[in-house]
Amino acid sequence: MNQFRFSRRPDIGDKIRVSFEFFPPKNDEMEARLWDTVTRLEPLRPKFVSVTYGAGGSTRERTARTVKRILTETALTPAAHMTCVNAARHEVDAVVQEFADMGVKRFVALRGDPAEGVGAAYQPHPDGYANGAELVGALKGIGDFDISVSAYPEKHPESPDFATDFDMLKRKADNGATRAITQFFFDNDLYERYVEKARRAGIYIPIVPGILPVHNFTQVANFSSRCGALVPAWLAERFDGLQNDPQTHALVASAVAAEQVLDLVERGVGDFHFYTMNRADLVFAICHMIGIRSHEVEAAGSAAA
Ligand code: FAD
Repeated sequence: MNQFRFSRRPDIGDKIRVSFEFFPPKNDEMEARLWDTVTRLEPLRPKFVSVTYGAGGSTRERTARTVKRILTETALTPAAHMTCVNAARHEVDAVVQEFADMGVKRFVALRGDPAEGVGAAYQPHPDGYANGAELVGALKGIGDFDISVSAYPEKHPESPDFATDFDMLKRKADNGATRAITQFFFDNDLYERYVEKARRAGIYIPIVPGILPVHNFTQVANFSSRCGALVPAWLAERFDGLQNDPQTHALVASAVAAEQVLDLVERGVGDFHFYTMNRADLVFAICHMIGIRSHEVEAAGSAAA
């Protein structure tokens, strides 16, 4: 019976598309690690790779430099994250135009978090875009970009209710978003219910699950509590006692992520966005399990053409 599982079909890799998220490096050592990761993941031919934009636009230069390097030194298609934080509309538009001039055709459009970090009260810039939906509209006014937006299977922490969240997601879709990428989650039922509710709310764009391999459970648990993602008791139990045992922690993390992704494949999910944390191993292994194999790397810079 088991060999008929969807995730065990020999052609499963042809039916799945992946994208990878990186953050811009802060120093030479981190830069070297990022490029090792990019080099290792590039042959998996992701649909795109995205580069985050730090709180308050704090990484603007580094995001641009990383995107540029991806365009010129790899065959990957980069997507630049953009936020509305601490910037007037004309400033955001100018950054978008700079990316477009570089050859960027994909963006991840976000309201963003305050410069003080996740959890601080958000104050829109008086002349700025107020939220993700307004930013999507502005991007579409500048060019015919592929635009990803955020979605929150467990509700955005500032949102009073799911209805408000769906209203915002629908506005982003109506303004031209191509797809939504979810905040990470560990309970696939929550994701499935969220997608069903979104469809009922008239939102028809793909809602791609964002997968976070748990490289460091303590860090993930701290971050989760701030961004409203639930860490189920069973997950905490699996990592319990492994704080000082990195080898076992990595093996458990790999098993947990594989279990989650394979279950989503069984539920019919075909697109995955991986929060790589600029590390390749876990993501590479999970991709391998869902049939995504290395291909010869094309000539550098062909994605920009
Ligand atoms: P929006 O889509 O504008 O709003 C999301 C929800 O929050 C809305 O549904 C609404 O209900 C609620 N909301 C928004 N504004 C308010 C308000 N003023 N009062 C009450 N409720 C409100 N952050 C970064 O800084 N840089 C990144 O590169 C980055 N990348 C991300 C990538 C993904 C895939 C995801 C899921 C998140 C990312 N974030 C990033 C985090 C994101 O910026 C935060 O979650 C932020 O708090 C909301 O941004 P948004 O675009 O989701 O907001």
